[in-house]
Amino acid sequence: MSTQRNTATTVEDHRYVLDASAVITGYGSKTILQQLDLHIRAGETYALLGANGAGKSTTLSLFLGFLAPRSGSVRVHGIDPIAQPAEARRHIAYIPENVALYEHLSARENVAYLLDLAGQKERQSVIDNALMAAGLDAAALDRRVGGFSKGMRQKVAIALALARQVPALLLDEPTSGLDPQATTEFNRLLGLLSEQGVTILMVTHDLLSAADVADRIGFLDAGRLVEEVAATGEDRFDVRALHRRYARQAERTA
Ligand code: ATP
Repeated sequence: MSTQRNTATTVEDHRYVLDASAVITGYGSKTILQQLDLHIRAGETYALLGANGAGKSTTLSLFLGFLAPRSGSVRVHGIDPIAQPAEARRHIAYIPENVALYEHLSARENVAYLLDLAGQKERQSVIDNALMAAGLDAAALDRRVGGFSKGMRQKVAIALALARQVPALLLDEPTSGLDPQATTEFNRLLGLLSEQGVTILMVTHDLLSAADVADRIGFLDAGRLVEEVAATGEDRFDVRALHRRYARQAERTA
């Protein structure tokens, strides 16, 4: 277990925007998360890695209030997402692996409509600025998203998060299926959000992207957070050492 692990936390500790303490949960009779302790500070970018089935997406479901802890506690910005789901979700933007948009609407219309659903009326200029900050060309703003690539769809989702000014962003395997250029561009966008103070939790198998963007990388193994490594110095992470560790863990799980 790494020494960089945070152990001292309480549910009232608002330094942690995303906070899970001693969480046990699962589906039906199956226990997936076993005493999960995950404490993510305001403005921190955290990458959660782990083999298939380790419980990464389940961890996101906890913070989104889709799944209740059987024991332990979960807080989003100090709010219990099971007791107050709408209030907790006001503080979160969630980008799933495949971003769902209204296919027949344009990028502009999608953001305006989704903001409206979230109870936020926004000026066109704010929406356009968010879409362009997310890297969409002006020419793409009025195109139906039905023809958009995965990378472009993610930009629309990022624009929505920018316009909503949420404190926390959850991402599930955001770079899977993106080419290297789109991945680099996506990582740049995460950097932009991070500069704005957004707390980011990304679940990924992409070690290189994690090493590029994360302040901390955590390894989940069969529902337990077995190691956390923080970025240090100019090189931030020893990617080869991380890769060896990750490969060993995946081998054990296979
Ligand atoms: P992957 O990298 O493959 O996406 P993961 O680490 O995100 O894996 P989870 O999706 O959290 O893993 O799944 C953990 C375990 O829980 C798996 O065994 C999965 O089959 C099971 N599981 C996930 N969702 C459900 C569900 N809704 N009902 C029952 N079992 C589920």
